Amino acid sequence: MTGRTHDLAAFTTVNYILATSPLIHMSLGTLFVAFSANLIGGLTPDIDQPTADLWHKLPGGTLYSRLITPFLGGHRYISHSILGIFLFGFLAKYVLQLARHTLLVDMTLVWWSFMIAYISHLVMDTFTKEGVPWLFPIPIKFGIPPLHFLRIKTGGIVEKYIIFPILILINGSIIYSHYGKYLSFFHGYLR
Ligand SMILES: [Zn+2]
Repeated sequence: MTGRTHDLAAFTTVNYILATSPLIHMSLGTLFVAFSANLIGGLTPDIDQPTADLWHKLPGGTLYSRLITPFLGGHRYISHSILGIFLFGFLAKYVLQLARHTLLVDMTLVWWSFMIAYISHLVMDTFTKEGVPWLFPIPIKFGIPPLHFLRIKTGGIVEKYIIFPILILINGSIIYSHYGKYLSFFHGYLR
């Protein structure tokens, strides 16, 4: 899947969870940082690709990508597995701990926003032709549906003109059906 589909899927997942869970208080700062963490989390598994969107967004990213990507084993290896979820989960926790004194936001919410986005990336990739090595280092790539030719091609017509618009529609319907909740969130729960 392309970066923008991953980001939209990550946002959709968090949007759905927020809409269907009890309201939580958060600061405007937390909302903003959690949203950014969501976008970053949605792109993070693809840092094993030197051409990944996340690298282009970082200053000097192309150079770092050449240094780091060989250690991740190539595209769709460790960062696209359960092991990778734990690894990047710990790493994100560590980075957020370091930033705790600079950013006065609820780091637990930010971390969850990142993790949900990360996991949504792997789920979305499971529907693509390449599949996902969920059980890395066991070298089997899993895909839904199991028949390879029925799966989605990254950046193809199905992703662009069916999956992407469907995700937008899902967000619209989540907001529409939980409208009152969004209003009370912005009025009373966002400080
Ligand atoms: Zn990926």
